[in-house]
Amino acid sequence: MTDINEIKNLIKYAKERLELKERDSEYKSNRLLEIMRSGLEGTELEDAVYGELSLLPSEIDERFSVILKENGSKAATEWLYNYCVSNKYVKKDVLDKNPRFDTSNGLTITINKAKPEFRDPKKAKAGNSVDGGFAKCVICRENEGFAPRNKRNLRTVSITLGGKPWFWQYSPYGYFHEHGIAVNCEHTPMHIDRQTFENLIDFVDKFPHYFIGCNAPLERIGGSVLAHDHYQGGGEILPLHKAKIRTKIKDRKYPYVTVGILDWAGTVIRIKSDKRNEVVDIADRLRGAWVNYSNPELGIIATDENGVHNAISPTVIKTATHYEMNVILRSNITSEKYPDGVFHAHPEYHAIKKESIGLIEAQGLFILPGRLEEQLCEIEKIIKDQKPLLTELDEFKLVYNETQALYKSGKYADIHTAMQEELGSICYRILENTAVFKNEEDLMRFLKTAGFEV
Ligand SMILES: [Zn+2]
Repeated sequence: MTDINEIKNLIKYAKERLELKERDSEYKSNRLLEIMRSGLEGTELEDAVYGELSLLPSEIDERFSVILKENGSKAATEWLYNYCVSNKYVKKDVLDKNPRFDTSNGLTITINKAKPEFRDPKKAKAGNSVDGGFAKCVICRENEGFAPRNKRNLRTVSITLGGKPWFWQYSPYGYFHEHGIAVNCEHTPMHIDRQTFENLIDFVDKFPHYFIGCNAPLERIGGSVLAHDHYQGGGEILPLHKAKIRTKIKDRKYPYVTVGILDWAGTVIRIKSDKRNEVVDIADRLRGAWVNYSNPELGIIATDENGVHNAISPTVIKTATHYEMNVILRSNITSEKYPDGVFHAHPEYHAIKKESIGLIEAQGLFILPGRLEEQLCEIEKIIKDQKPLLTELDEFKLVYNETQALYKSGKYADIHTAMQEELGSICYRILENTAVFKNEEDLMRFLKTAGFEV
């Protein structure tokens, strides 16, 4: 009998939060009864129940476009986000438990307790296809409602980018406010070309309250799914977007457009204009120049027997007056000394972060592995008790020494604040590791070859 009461509550919830219609409620009760007696348990059962209670994808599309038309795109995305929280696809209660803080050097750090650490970048290439090939990868639209991947409650909305069908969905374990992905309806590999900039600008034209960016389409410096073209965005202004231009440069073709080197630890060029064609033109020229640029003295090698090494990661916002396209220059080259990447987090920081530094981190929001919460707590205690570091925490020697010094300096209220500052400092140094140009003169030399006056 508990089933019946539970079903009543679920139907009530679905009417209030998931737009279930009275006419359908008895039918859905019967469907739930079957699901609850199917033997499914835990997250699978939750996924099946809320999937059944959610609107159909076509109904989601319809509701979204009606709200968009009547109340604008911000209201539409808010509605969709809340819907995906209500139907439990977005695990907001889990996300809200993740520690998150800003550090004095302008970075934001979060410890992700929900998602397992992803230490093998080779997996990204394959994109985890399931045998049988129904949904070719984890982000294909065919996953909407797909039980083997617990996507029965996944709902997406159709959008058009560059005249082609794409869709937008929220990330179940988002890293920031309304974190979502825009995905090509076609399963086609990640790539960046002129059309990418057009697509990104199409997106912010439609959703000017969101930023959107694209991971570098190479392993070790990009996202976890390289097999399927997608962008990441959402409703938060990230630290990189707040950074200012440090040095202005001039584009020869559009000398009146604001272009400059960003005051940022990584290597980033910002292009600001109210005309999209100027932004696209300059960004694409910069991309073309960078992917072909080599400077062996600096360790920059465009291509070798292992393939292409240079790529960019663009990210754009739309302000009240113009577009701001930030082009992050990246390289995934490795060496004997740095087998994980010359422009990757160096080994002394791997205890904190070993995973790829993708688009989100390159914008100053660091997602650190969940294991750190316990490990760092232990180190804080050891420092406070003035004890030596335990051998099993040996990889944290740098963190231990530096945090101890910060704590002893008396500048911080307590050991925990000192530790947070230490993490900010390490993440900043990781960003410096990813910078392909360590000084401005070298960057200027490259920019000259790319058609800029410096
Ligand atoms: Zn796919």
